[in-house]
Amino acid sequence: MSAADQYQAFKQLGLKLDMSRGKPAPEQLNLSNALLDALDGYKGADGTDLRNYGGTVGIPEARALFAQLLDVPAAQVVVDGSASLSLMHDVIVYHLLNGAPGHAPWVREPVTFLCPVPGYDRHFSICEARGIKMINVPMNQQGPDMDLVEQLVAQDASIKGMWIVPKYSNPGGVVFSDQVVARLAAMKTAAPDFRLMWDDAYRFHHLGEHKLAVANILDACAKAGNPDRAFVFASSSKVSWAGSGIAALAASPANIAWWTKHAGIRSIGPDKINQLRHVQLLKDVPTLEALMEQHRQLLKPKFDAVLEQFQQHLGEVPGVSWTRPEGGYFIDLVTPDGAARRTVALAKEAGITLTPAGAAFPYGVDPKDRHIRIAPSFPSLDEITKAAQGIALSLKVALAS
Ligand code: PMP
Repeated sequence: MSAADQYQAFKQLGLKLDMSRGKPAPEQLNLSNALLDALDGYKGADGTDLRNYGGTVGIPEARALFAQLLDVPAAQVVVDGSASLSLMHDVIVYHLLNGAPGHAPWVREPVTFLCPVPGYDRHFSICEARGIKMINVPMNQQGPDMDLVEQLVAQDASIKGMWIVPKYSNPGGVVFSDQVVARLAAMKTAAPDFRLMWDDAYRFHHLGEHKLAVANILDACAKAGNPDRAFVFASSSKVSWAGSGIAALAASPANIAWWTKHAGIRSIGPDKINQLRHVQLLKDVPTLEALMEQHRQLLKPKFDAVLEQFQQHLGEVPGVSWTRPEGGYFIDLVTPDGAARRTVALAKEAGITLTPAGAAFPYGVDPKDRHIRIAPSFPSLDEITKAAQGIALSLKVALAS
């Protein structure tokens, strides 16, 4: 059967699948159902009534937990509500409106961010919505093209920041090397208030046998004499419940004081009861790692199924490749020039909704129209296997037409 006939036959299956975002599957959410009755009281370890207002920086137990998880002192951690994305947004907005400690508000001059591509669409949406210009920087196997990054930040004072997903990046699965981390921490920037938005969203989300580690950016920045350069973000979104987790920010003491001042205007304190029940569920690094191993058991077969289908249907197709991630939530399917958009449209016609082609690039524009983000987590194993086949057939038809 030709690829076109196979595609038509696939369409007849009448599949209806939304794979546009990397959501945990219901079985993964079930792993944390102990949250439903984790609490036997509402007081913190120090006797504080957690039902009431207060505690902008988070409860001490939750700060201690994230300090352990992120390998930073508890005094340099703030724990907040469910979304690390909100923390990222607010860090940028406070820089725009108030400025970094000792510096003018960014909003007074044009602001530019460096964006390793392909990258996370919501990072780019924040920049676009807040009027920050974006420059693409190619992502290599070990992190962004550092020669280019160093050259750009040294000459252009409007470059105030850079997005980073240091481990199992979305969508390329890149793990930053120690050398890249050291160069990012030490590079000379024309802007004295340059910031690394260090989004450690997939720190514990291993798919392989080996738990890969990335060098500690706060330590590297401090050592290089740039202690205030990095803001580190993390959350329990894909550890416990994506919509009801807890999020954390880690930074230098000066940046934590700055954050606390501005966040205190925005809120009289986060949901501390949710923080308490998360501390009881996640406890410490070994407990969290045991939970992540259960996630891995559910996720790995789905990733393997996609890789197997791609190998079977696309292995011989020139110019097509895909990532084999060691962790995280995505596979990046790379097509020959100009085929990604058409493939996504054909998959849609066959009942598979994918992340829009181009989403992994600033302004939604993939200059060569080559990247398709595959999110295997949410569908069942059977569904994802079929979907991967459908995507492969869509790509073959796109290339033939
Ligand atoms: N950062 C990255 C790189 C992500 O992929 C995601 C979720 N897709 C998030 C942040 C969102 O994190 P949160 O739920 O904590 O807002």
